[in-house]
Order: sequence, then C-alpha cells, then structure tokens
Amino acid sequence: MDGNASPHADAPLIDPFARAISYLRVSVTDRCDFRCVYCMSEDMTFLPKAEILSLEELDRLCSAFVRLGVRKLRLTGGEPLVRRNVMSLIRNLGRHVRSGTLDELTLTTNGSQLAKFADELVDAGVRRINVSLDTLDAGRFAQLTRWGKLDQVLDGLKAAKRAGLQVKINAVALKGMNDDEFDRLIAWSGDEGFDLVFIEVMPMGEIGGDARLDQYLPLSMVRAEISKSWTLDETDYRTGGPARYFTVRETGRRLGFITPLTHNFCESCNRVRLTCTGTLYMCLGQDDAADLRAPLRASDDDGALDRAIRAAIARKPKGHDFVIDRRHSGPAVQRHMSVTGG
Ligand code: SAM
Ligand code: SF4
Repeated sequence: MDGNASPHADAPLIDPFARAISYLRVSVTDRCDFRCVYCMSEDMTFLPKAEILSLEELDRLCSAFVRLGVRKLRLTGGEPLVRRNVMSLIRNLGRHVRSGTLDELTLTTNGSQLAKFADELVDAGVRRINVSLDTLDAGRFAQLTRWGKLDQVLDGLKAAKRAGLQVKINAVALKGMNDDEFDRLIAWSGDEGFDLVFIEVMPMGEIGGDARLDQYLPLSMVRAEISKSWTLDETDYRTGGPARYFTVRETGRRLGFITPLTHNFCESCNRVRLTCTGTLYMCLGQDDAADLRAPLRASDDDGALDRAIRAAIARKPKGHDFVIDRRHSGPAVQRHMSVTGG
C-alpha cells in the first residue's frame, strides 16, 4: 500500500536532533475503569466515540510506523484492556513480532482485566507488560483509584505470572499517599519476581485545585530514603524507555526511576505518542501535534500518511519543560495522561 515514490520512502525516522524514532506508544482508548486521583478528575469528559479510530485503522497506522522503522510498540490508554475487542488488534499486531519487524509488542495496564486476558496476550506475542500499582493497601488503593479493587489487580497479576508474562510494576510516588510504602513495594516486587519503577507525578490535565503540588514528591528524595534500607547497584540496563535502572542487591530485581521533573531525560528520547483519534504527539510535555487521521482516511494508499508522519517527526521538539512549584501548580499541558498514554 505504499504509494510514496520517493527514493527515501523507507529511510528511518530521524528527528531534527538526530534521534531515531523507534518507539511508538498508542493510547487505544482514553476511557478507563479507574479514576486515579493524579491522572483523572472524577467527572471526566471523554472523546466523542465518532472521533475514535476503528481497530482496523489503528492497526494500519501502527503498521505504517513499523514499516518506517519503529521496533517497539506499547499499547496504553486510558485502560487499553477495556476497549471492546482490543484483543483482535493485539493479535493482528502480533504478526509484526512473528515476522521479526517488531522487537516488542507490549502494554501498560492497570491490571483489572488481566485475569481474563493474560493467556491471550501471550498467545498474541506479548512477552512483557507494565502494570500500574501504587499501593498494596486495599483501602488506600480504593482511595487512590477511586473505582478500583486491589484484589482484582492482584488476581490479574497472578494470572500474568501463570501465563509467563514478565511484569514490571509502575508506581507513582505520591506525597502523603504512598510515601511510607516504598520499602514494602520493593520487598513485595522482589518476592513476586517483578521489576519496579517509581514515577514522578507529571503536571498533565486538570485534576482539581492544587492537587498536583500536594502530590508531588521528587524521586531524589525517594531514592535517598530507599537507600537507607536497600543497596542499589548501578546498571546500564535500558528498555528504550525513560527509566534509569538499578539492581536491588537484596532482592536481585531491577528498580527504575522515571524523573521527568528532577532529571530531564529528553536528550535520548526515541518515542512519539499516538492518541485513539489519530493525533500524533511528538512530545508528552508539549502541545504541538499532527493529525494523522485525515491522511489515513483520505486514501487506502499510505503515501500521504507516510508524508504526514515524516513531516511530524521533522517537528519533534528538543524536550519538555515540566515544572511543579508554587507558581506553576496548574497543568503544563491541558490534556490528561490518559489521552496521550503514559
Ligand atoms: N491505565 C493504564 C495504567 O494505569 O497503567 C495505562 C494508562 S496510564 C495513563 C499509564 C501510566 O501513567 C500509569 O502508570 C499511571 O500511573 C501514569 N500516570 C497517569 N497520570 C500521571 C501523572 N499525572 N504523572 C505521572 N504518571 C501518571
Ligand atoms: Fe486509568 Fe491508568 Fe489513569 Fe489510573 S492511571 S485513571 S488506571 S488511565
């Protein structure tokens, strides 16, 4: 379907700062069965259904990126596993893993639907998943997610393990909410055989009042606290994502830190993000975006789509400017994390 006659049609995607774009994150839905306090407000307005790409359109878009050199694809959201029939998309995308054009097909999930889907995910070619879990206390979990049930997620994690999926736990560090649980999370992840990544709260989307400022906890402080109980050995392990990893000597598992606010990781950024309406964000922390839905729908031929993708990559900014302090307690970008995907 490639109608682009340019001799450079298959040239890799390189941005203006010489970074090769090899990682696409796709928010397959902005909807979710949870309402985590740092991610969403309680009464969210979601995108109108009519604007959302069909699963076939999402497959075609993802496949165009794979043809242009993307080697890693992460499905996220909202909650990717609540989109109706999402397994058909995942199964179809698995063909790129089987053919060797994609190194990894993975997803970030809140785990609520894993008990149902873990085996199917493995069948489709998924090997590793990220599961978000900020607390191991059932009451706190209910407070933090507003609508979630801890047991359901723990059952999902059991199913994932049984199915043979490698699991990485994502935990957002939240002042006054889970800052007394870091040791417990590290010990539990070690026992379960999961890697663990702590994430700083990012100022994305309105969640009400000064909540972000109240939640924000710099990971430099978290690391100092953790180091009192655990030995963190430096590693050069990289997943192509933004985390910096250590090995916890006592558990043998990896511990990562994603520090968009205290440590800027943009210089090695290799990724772009696609929303479920076909909007491509070249940076999580900037508003510039490219509409890929129009060229996708304009023709069955991918020529115009490829050109739109290349034009977007040519505008990828150098980095984000996230700041959270008294003068900047509002969102740096208006959209919520669930629109662009975390
Ligand atoms: N629903 C799935 C989940 O929770 O894993 C996938 C989407 S969620 C938006 C992806 C990740 O973004 C989660 O690990 C979540 O904790 C994180 N996240 C959401 N809002 C955030 C924020 N404002 N700052 C930092 N991380 C955030
Ligand atoms: Fe849903 Fe994930 Fe956002 Fe929580 S972090 S509300 S699970 S999209």
